[in-house]
Amino acid sequence: MTLPLPLPPCSNRDGVNSCDHFDYASTMASTLLAPVKTERDILEHSMYEDDPNANTQLPNEVGSEPRWGPRHRGAQELAELYSPGKRLQELVCVVLCCTLCVTAGLLMAKYIRPDGFLLLAAIAGVLTADFLSGFVHWAADTWGAVDLPLIGKNFLRPFREHHIDPTSITRHDFIETNGDNFAITIPVLARIVWQLATYDVNEINEKFHWISYWYLCCIFVAMTNQIHKWSHTYFGLPAWVVCLQEWHIVLPRRHHRIHHVAPHETYFCITTGWLNWPLEKLHFWYILENIIEALTGCKPRADDMKWAQKRS
Ligand SMILES: [Zn+2]
Ligand SMILES: [Zn+2]
Repeated sequence: MTLPLPLPPCSNRDGVNSCDHFDYASTMASTLLAPVKTERDILEHSMYEDDPNANTQLPNEVGSEPRWGPRHRGAQELAELYSPGKRLQELVCVVLCCTLCVTAGLLMAKYIRPDGFLLLAAIAGVLTADFLSGFVHWAADTWGAVDLPLIGKNFLRPFREHHIDPTSITRHDFIETNGDNFAITIPVLARIVWQLATYDVNEINEKFHWISYWYLCCIFVAMTNQIHKWSHTYFGLPAWVVCLQEWHIVLPRRHHRIHHVAPHETYFCITTGWLNWPLEKLHFWYILENIIEALTGCKPRADDMKWAQKRS
């Protein structure tokens, strides 16, 4: 690996070999600054979403069974498991969540004032949403199987489908994209509306920072899969969405490609992606997987690998 800075000549000052210190500092710097996945990793181990005509298909892959995309046999099988019952549940959750969100926003409007702590509470809410997106995504990608009762088809299936056909999300409508995330926020939003409707003014003013924290967290949790869908959309995005991506207020497209490099073991946060780099450098997911494997004997991503291999 090349070092980002040239090495200076070694000097011996006060009996201390400064070269040792510099080597250590350089190693630390190169470890921290090293890209999590190189351009070559991304090119060779992920699908070319910005190239729907597959013009950049590698020569050794031409003519072989599809490794990713809508022609992948496993992806087709998973897409067929989306049921009308699941669709109805998603529709009900989207309507309920939108109603609660608008009601809470209207009730909160008269309490909002310029305040540094309010801004901090809002940022903390967004960070919490980003971490939760990473944790749920990591858990669903890494453990469990599609044939598990109840959660398999309803919850884990879209995660498996997404790895072998990442562009499928761009063909899902608003309800299929957002139904599950909207559902998660309903209990918290219902509590916020209940607090705003039943507490007296002093009590609401006292708790307003917490209410704002949970409200922002819910908005970003609810929007996570829509943001994720935008990160896979290389054509026809509105200019304001592209600006939000380029300013890294929501998950940027190039940033999310790092997760889509097989075997999909890093960069799980998909709301803003702000926590991906620090969690990767702390080996957070790796450590967690090792602890769980030691305790249960389960292999991480075994089911994900099984679906990836169903190519014909
Ligand atoms: Zn994933
Ligand atoms: Zn993705």
